[in-house]
Amino acid sequence: MKSWSTPTPAPLPACPDRLRVHDTATGRLRHPGNGPDRASLYVCGITPYDATHLGHATTYVSFDLLQRYWRACGIAVTYTQNVTDVDDPLLERAEATGVDWRELAREQTDLFRADMEALEVLAPDHYVGVTEAVGLVAEAVAGLIAAGLAYRVPGTAGEPDGDVYFDLRAAERATDWRLGSVSAMDAATMAAVFPERGGDPDRPGKRDRLDPLLWRVERPGEPAWEAGTLGRGRPGWHIECSVIAREHLPAPFTVQGGGSDLRFPHHEFSAAHATAVDGRPLALTYLHSGMVALDGRKMSKSLGNLELVSRLRARGEEPVAVRAAVLAHHYRSDWEWTEQGLEEARRRVAAWRAALTGPHAGAGTVVLEAAHRALSEDLDAPAALRVLDDWAAGTLPGLERAGDGPDVATVAHALLGLRLR
Ligand code: ZN
Repeated sequence: MKSWSTPTPAPLPACPDRLRVHDTATGRLRHPGNGPDRASLYVCGITPYDATHLGHATTYVSFDLLQRYWRACGIAVTYTQNVTDVDDPLLERAEATGVDWRELAREQTDLFRADMEALEVLAPDHYVGVTEAVGLVAEAVAGLIAAGLAYRVPGTAGEPDGDVYFDLRAAERATDWRLGSVSAMDAATMAAVFPERGGDPDRPGKRDRLDPLLWRVERPGEPAWEAGTLGRGRPGWHIECSVIAREHLPAPFTVQGGGSDLRFPHHEFSAAHATAVDGRPLALTYLHSGMVALDGRKMSKSLGNLELVSRLRARGEEPVAVRAAVLAHHYRSDWEWTEQGLEEARRRVAAWRAALTGPHAGAGTVVLEAAHRALSEDLDAPAALRVLDDWAAGTLPGLERAGDGPDVATVAHALLGLRLR
């Protein structure tokens, strides 16, 4: 589907790729595995309702920083993101509010695009709705059944026959993937979070309680697509991302990103499905951004404690201050959105802007080197913002040797997505 359009960053003098990031799968700080010229990124997209709360915004701003880091190294990036534009939570919300699910998805995706543009998040090269990929998903699911890695469950308790589940034990026997190899969670943790995140451990007829749904056959009143031997139905959640990533990115691609609530089951099984289909790993590195709280609790649709980017924009907040408030926290940390945090960000943006008329406005190369070095250590955005603070205060080492090169406003925009003028 249509992506959005954020201005391409101005070219910067090439910086060395010294990136080390915290890979969830191995628990190690390491280079993400991209080549010298190319990198590829998949970040799981929204289910389009309650767009765009600060939790979403934090995820996409975090991975935007990765893309900007790579670009500053002269590395070409291919970026793919999905939209889960048909799934249970979307249909439940549509039902509860009396809105057609397609209309809800369209309106919320439009809002998300506008918020991403405002926050200067670079657009994906491939922005794909699951409703656009149903045929590919059906093909993959049929292949998994044929390979003995998926099975149909008979209907009981009013459910129709034919829902298809992934056989995780069979996949462990047949491939290099192992349960927990991506999420790095133990069995007890996986069992605890599975039902909280869309899993159905108690569905009769499943071979393992954690086997995830691949294909849901049609129920009365639910959207469904014709899918040959599978019958009419719609995709499960995890296979959607496996298939869209395979269609638009190398196998494996460099980084799979998302919020930390996607570690399990979503990223675990997206990886499992992709490997079960073609024998190759999904991604080289798995990065997860922290959760954002509001009023002391994780921001979530179920609790209803959401701060929306669009609401902040509507009341006149500058998007650059919102972005700076997000970047003041390390992407892996859990943190709380507060008015004080936003106020602090406004103050910093004002100080940076004031310094653009000062004696060190041309010191972009010095700022670039220091900020890029900060990002090299697990995308340390708070440290990169402190580089701007030090530059504005005139205390950043090396300012005296500022010579030719980009000015600081150009660097702040291209590297950090902060629009200072
Ligand atoms: Zn996903």
